[in-house]
Amino acid sequence: MSKRVTSAARYMLALNDCRVFDRHQWHATFVVGQYLCTTCGASFYCPGCTLSIPKNARARLCPEHHAEQEARDEQARRHRHEQQQQSSQPSIQKGVPS
Ligand SMILES: [Zn+2]
Ligand SMILES: [Zn+2]
Repeated sequence: MSKRVTSAARYMLALNDCRVFDRHQWHATFVVGQYLCTTCGASFYCPGCTLSIPKNARARLCPEHHAEQEARDEQARRHRHEQQQQSSQPSIQKGVPS
Protein backbone atom coordinates (compact mmCIF):
# COMPACT_ATOMS: atom_id res chain seq x y z
CA MET A 1 0.00 0.00 0.00
CA SER A 2 2.26 2.67 -1.21
CA LYS A 3 0.81 6.14 -1.04
CA ARG A 4 3.01 7.76 -3.59
CA VAL A 5 1.81 10.44 -5.88
CA THR A 6 2.45 9.26 -9.36
CA SER A 7 4.48 11.50 -11.55
CA ALA A 8 1.53 11.55 -13.91
CA ALA A 9 -0.70 13.02 -11.23
CA ARG A 10 1.94 15.57 -10.38
CA TYR A 11 2.23 16.46 -14.01
CA MET A 12 -1.51 16.96 -14.31
CA LEU A 13 -1.46 19.30 -11.33
CA ALA A 14 1.38 21.29 -12.80
CA LEU A 15 -0.33 21.47 -16.15
CA ASN A 16 -3.42 22.71 -14.38
CA ASP A 17 -1.35 25.56 -13.00
CA CYS A 18 -0.27 26.43 -16.50
CA ARG A 19 -3.62 26.29 -18.17
CA VAL A 20 -5.96 27.47 -15.47
CA PHE A 21 -3.86 29.86 -13.47
CA ASP A 22 -1.34 30.81 -16.12
CA ARG A 23 1.42 30.04 -13.67
CA HIS A 24 4.34 28.58 -15.47
CA GLN A 25 7.63 27.13 -14.42
CA TRP A 26 10.23 29.64 -15.44
CA HIS A 27 13.41 28.05 -16.58
CA ALA A 28 16.06 30.25 -18.07
CA THR A 29 17.41 29.12 -21.39
CA PHE A 30 20.75 29.89 -22.90
CA VAL A 31 19.14 32.91 -24.52
CA VAL A 32 19.00 35.94 -22.26
CA GLY A 33 15.43 36.93 -21.50
CA GLN A 34 13.98 33.77 -22.91
CA TYR A 35 12.37 31.22 -20.70
CA LEU A 36 10.87 27.84 -21.07
CA CYS A 37 8.07 26.27 -19.11
CA THR A 38 9.15 22.73 -18.46
CA THR A 39 5.58 21.72 -17.74
CA CYS A 40 3.68 22.76 -20.83
CA GLY A 41 6.72 23.38 -23.02
CA ALA A 42 5.73 26.93 -23.92
CA SER A 43 8.39 29.51 -24.68
CA PHE A 44 8.24 32.95 -23.21
CA TYR A 45 10.38 35.98 -23.32
CA CYS A 46 10.43 38.89 -20.94
CA PRO A 47 10.32 42.33 -22.58
CA GLY A 48 12.01 43.67 -19.48
CA CYS A 49 14.95 41.32 -19.86
CA THR A 50 15.53 41.43 -23.57
CA LEU A 51 14.74 43.64 -26.52
CA SER A 52 15.04 40.91 -29.08
CA ILE A 53 11.86 38.97 -29.63
CA PRO A 54 12.47 35.28 -30.14
CA LYS A 55 10.35 33.38 -32.58
CA ASN A 56 7.45 31.36 -31.25
CA ALA A 57 7.77 32.93 -27.85
CA ARG A 58 5.02 34.67 -26.02
CA ALA A 59 5.63 37.95 -24.28
CA ARG A 60 5.38 37.50 -20.58
CA LEU A 61 7.08 39.35 -17.79
CA CYS A 62 9.40 37.17 -15.79
CA PRO A 63 8.55 36.89 -12.10
CA GLU A 64 11.08 39.56 -11.29
CA HIS A 65 9.77 42.10 -13.77
CA HIS A 66 6.22 41.10 -13.02
CA ALA A 67 6.74 42.15 -9.42
CA GLU A 68 8.27 45.41 -10.62
CA GLN A 69 5.31 46.06 -12.89
CA GLU A 70 2.87 45.39 -10.08
CA ALA A 71 4.67 47.89 -7.90
CA ARG A 72 4.53 50.45 -10.71
CA ASP A 73 0.83 49.85 -11.27
CA GLU A 74 0.17 50.23 -7.58
CA GLN A 75 2.09 53.50 -7.55
CA ALA A 76 0.19 54.78 -10.58
CA ARG A 77 -3.09 53.88 -8.96
CA ARG A 78 -2.20 55.75 -5.84
CA HIS A 79 -1.02 58.71 -7.87
CA ARG A 80 -4.26 58.84 -9.85
CA HIS A 81 -6.22 58.68 -6.64
CA GLU A 82 -4.34 61.65 -5.23
CA GLN A 83 -4.93 63.63 -8.40
CA GLN A 84 -8.62 62.92 -8.25
CA GLN A 85 -8.81 64.22 -4.73
CA GLN A 86 -6.98 67.37 -5.70
CA SER A 87 -9.14 68.02 -8.74
CA SER A 88 -12.24 68.20 -6.55
CA GLN A 89 -11.15 71.79 -6.04
CA PRO A 90 -11.09 73.15 -9.55
CA SER A 91 -8.02 75.17 -10.30
CA ILE A 92 -8.33 76.30 -13.85
CA GLN A 93 -5.12 77.70 -15.10
CA LYS A 94 -5.64 80.14 -17.87
CA GLY A 95 -2.88 80.85 -20.33
CA VAL A 96 -0.31 83.46 -19.57
CA PRO A 97 -1.84 86.91 -20.22
CA SER A 98 -0.19 88.64 -23.08
ZN1 LIG B 1 3.49 26.19 -18.54
ZN1 LIG C 1 12.44 40.05 -16.85
